[in-house]
Amino acid sequence: MRGDGEFPSGAGRVGQRGVGGVRRRPLGKDIDHDAESNWLGQDGHDQPGLERLEAPINYATGLFTRPVDIAELEAPGALALFSPDYPSGGVSVAAANPIEDERWIVMLMGYGDSRPGRTVGAFREACAELPPILTTATAGAVIGDVVTYHQAESRRRHFTDVSRFPARLVSVGDAVASFNPVYGQGMSSAALHASCLAFHLGGGPDLGSVAREFFRLQQVVVDVAWAVSAGGDAARLDARDGTDVPEDIARQRWAVEQITAATLLDGNVTRAFNNVSYMLRHPATLADPALLARAVAAHQEAPMAT
Ligand SMILES: Cc1cc2nc3c(=O)[nH]c(=O)nc-3n(C[C@H](O)[C@H](O)[C@H](O)COP(=O)(O)OP(=O)(O)OC[C@H]3O[C@@H](n4cnc5c(N)ncnc54)[C@H](O)[C@@H]3O)c2cc1C
Repeated sequence: MRGDGEFPSGAGRVGQRGVGGVRRRPLGKDIDHDAESNWLGQDGHDQPGLERLEAPINYATGLFTRPVDIAELEAPGALALFSPDYPSGGVSVAAANPIEDERWIVMLMGYGDSRPGRTVGAFREACAELPPILTTATAGAVIGDVVTYHQAESRRRHFTDVSRFPARLVSVGDAVASFNPVYGQGMSSAALHASCLAFHLGGGPDLGSVAREFFRLQQVVVDVAWAVSAGGDAARLDARDGTDVPEDIARQRWAVEQITAATLLDGNVTRAFNNVSYMLRHPATLADPALLARAVAAHQEAPMAT
């Protein structure tokens, strides 16, 4: 990470303090090994430890024809988020975006046992209970079927911890870390892993040795994505279960809440937040006291909702 908090093309370096000033902590951590990496063990090499956060999610995605040009739309898309205990008909997150070829892509997501919108009928019924743009977006003809996706847990593998590992072997993308897609970081993450690899290979490493420098660079990216995505889910689960968390974590979550709420009120805060969401900047940039003060001030100056 550069001094200005930006990820350079090689993803850069970060200190030992963890991500974004957030100390490393277990997120319901369960180090385990899985069948996919068993062949490594059989070959006398170390299997990378597997860390999991159980957070079952259910996605349903539908494509619908869009008779109106994007330029004529009142809003360039919509995102509806519901508090953990108050989903709308099982929907915790809904998104509608106009895309190429005069189509809408619409996504409904439920946590745990909620599996909203598994058929076109159920999909439209659920959207009818959501902000009106979701009804508009699903009014056209459906293109293909609604596609569902279930993910039981977020998971990451710790390649930096292995001591006996084959040279010329690296893992990238979801094979290293996969998390709740609702945070939209999987593709950015995978692209940054590739960037780390380019940086590593560009430095002329000894290819006969384990690619430790690559794994160390990649860990910067994985830590960030894990902190934002799995950390966000862990905060939601703790809030739902009323779990006591250490004071420093509670303070960090309060700060993130201030920032995210202020994204609706202050364009500078929105830009800072989006840069972190899109993985263009490190989450440490959100810990800037001036930005936090700006976020808090935005709340104080905002008229009270009636
Ligand atoms: C429903 C859903 C929505 C998502 N939304 C977003 C989003 O909005 N933004 C975002 O950033 N990320 C999103 N993601 C996550 C993103 O898709 C992944 O993080 C990303 O695609 C990971 O890239 P990858 O190259 O590691 O794996 P993949 O994209 O899965 O690519 C792996 C490829 O390997 C192929 N393959 C598998 N086994 C073999 C084999 N034995 N031989 C040959 N080929 C094989 C597969 O067919 C596949 O093409 C979403 C994921 C899902 C499931």
